[in-house]
Amino acid sequence: MENITSFTWRRLKNRYNLVGKKCNNCDSVYFAPRMICSKCNPPQETVDFKLSGLGEVVSFSLVNVPPEEHAAMAPYVLAIVQLKDGPKLTTQIVDCTEKEMKIGMPVEAVFRKITEDGNGLISYGFKFRPLLNGRG
Ligand code: ZN
Repeated sequence: MENITSFTWRRLKNRYNLVGKKCNNCDSVYFAPRMICSKCNPPQETVDFKLSGLGEVVSFSLVNVPPEEHAAMAPYVLAIVQLKDGPKLTTQIVDCTEKEMKIGMPVEAVFRKITEDGNGLISYGFKFRPLLNGRG
């Protein structure tokens, strides 16, 4: 029971704070989080690391036909974002049309609705949006 509770809490904490993992031995940052740094020999345990949420667009594409649970959001822009902290992630870009998207565009993490199942169950998580001028 103890393990299930702490696992759920860890998942929640990661979801609400954009927390990754960092290896204190070689400074590698992981997101999605990994418990073990595989770049080190011998492998090292990682520690929680709060990501800045800042990054830039590496590539992107317009999704017209998404998986069923995301159908209500289509069309939307899906991008690979290189975080300033090191890791890359695939994420939805919001507050921006496909025509406004540029490779190298600075973006920031925002907390948004991810899915809605039609029965009132809504899940939230991180998406990214263009970093506004004069910020960051
Ligand atoms: Zn390491």
